[in-house]
Amino acid sequence: MNIRLNEKLFFVLTIFLLCAVNFTSIAMSKNDITNKFSKSHIISDDNTIDSFSSYYFTHTVFAGIATSQNCKPCDDWNENLYDLYMSGEYDFEYVEIIEFDHDGKILNLKANEWSENFDIGSYPTSIFDRDFDRIIGNYPEQLSDTIENCGERTVYDISSTLNIFWLDNGQLQIDITIQNNEPNTYVGHIRCFVTEIISRYDTYYGDPYHFGFLDYAYDDNIQIESGNSHMDSVIWDGNEHEDEHGDDFGDIDPDNIQLVLIVYNNNNDFIDETNVARISGNNPPDAPMISGQTKGNTKEEYEYKFTTNDFNNDNIFYYVEWGDGTLEEWIGPYESGEELIISHSWDEDGIYTIKAKAKDIHDAESLWNTLDIEMPINKKSTYFLILKYINNLTNVVPILKQLIWFALNL
Ligand code: CA
Repeated sequence: MNIRLNEKLFFVLTIFLLCAVNFTSIAMSKNDITNKFSKSHIISDDNTIDSFSSYYFTHTVFAGIATSQNCKPCDDWNENLYDLYMSGEYDFEYVEIIEFDHDGKILNLKANEWSENFDIGSYPTSIFDRDFDRIIGNYPEQLSDTIENCGERTVYDISSTLNIFWLDNGQLQIDITIQNNEPNTYVGHIRCFVTEIISRYDTYYGDPYHFGFLDYAYDDNIQIESGNSHMDSVIWDGNEHEDEHGDDFGDIDPDNIQLVLIVYNNNNDFIDETNVARISGNNPPDAPMISGQTKGNTKEEYEYKFTTNDFNNDNIFYYVEWGDGTLEEWIGPYESGEELIISHSWDEDGIYTIKAKAKDIHDAESLWNTLDIEMPINKKSTYFLILKYINNLTNVVPILKQLIWFALNL
């Protein structure tokens, strides 16, 4: 009897695992999630959407420009791109990746690696959304169609925050959050370009480049579970990076720095999210400290304390997720350093993660902090949780329910 029951259980689990694996891979390979209208619409004074705005774009388009100081058409291209960018007509960002100097020698090793990765044969070559499209040469008449073509692409639903703070002596603190809004794990890569708005490097005819590449602040692989975030904070020191002329970047001017963050996936290598930021005179609060009981009983209320400081002594708001689907949305303001106490109870047994972040009155957000807590778990509730999970899955994949029913009746 026991052997027969074990066989059934083995059969059910095998079907369950096969379907779960298959379901995940199908969901990961499809690229059909759009977040149209997620960007701010550009609304005219009469409340109609400007027909030339990028309101229908799924994401901010990104262009990396392979360029060289000894290339004549690169001078015109630099001006054409900048004019379109400053017109605000399209939702796009770009970086001039200056590979060679006026003598045709390598100027920046990372720029050189970037160009080789895209097999650049002539300059300028503009790579849109990591080669979804490219423009070779100085052809401004191709810009509108190319940017629109990229802007309408279907992308994974990824959002991000990017904050930069000036630490003095050529040092920047760069905080990022990448949020995966997809139902499946996101596997990809992030890059954050440090650029000078008016570049230290000039073109063939002596005009300064705009958004001239210096270095990466981030160049990392990422893997983010559904609904989760990837957070990081780095200090980029211009004194520690230099070009191939031996000149370091410790002399950067904080008012002349723009950072561009791109997120792209491993499936098609195309860009899903672009973000841009300049240095703010304001600093966000530190990630909040969370304290309170880490073990307890369900349906009993426990007090949790949240506190943090703001570098500029600004008042602070708190955002708390209790891990059970409930949250406290930007409560406050509280004074910097003042303690916030909230009571909460959990209805079901389980392990929960309390997450909290803070923002100041200027909307500068801190990084998240977390506290894991455990409400008692016994065998009965574990069994119930498994049944609940299987039931949820079989609602999504009805054939699985029929297979399990069939197996149990063998
Ligand atoms: Ca502040």
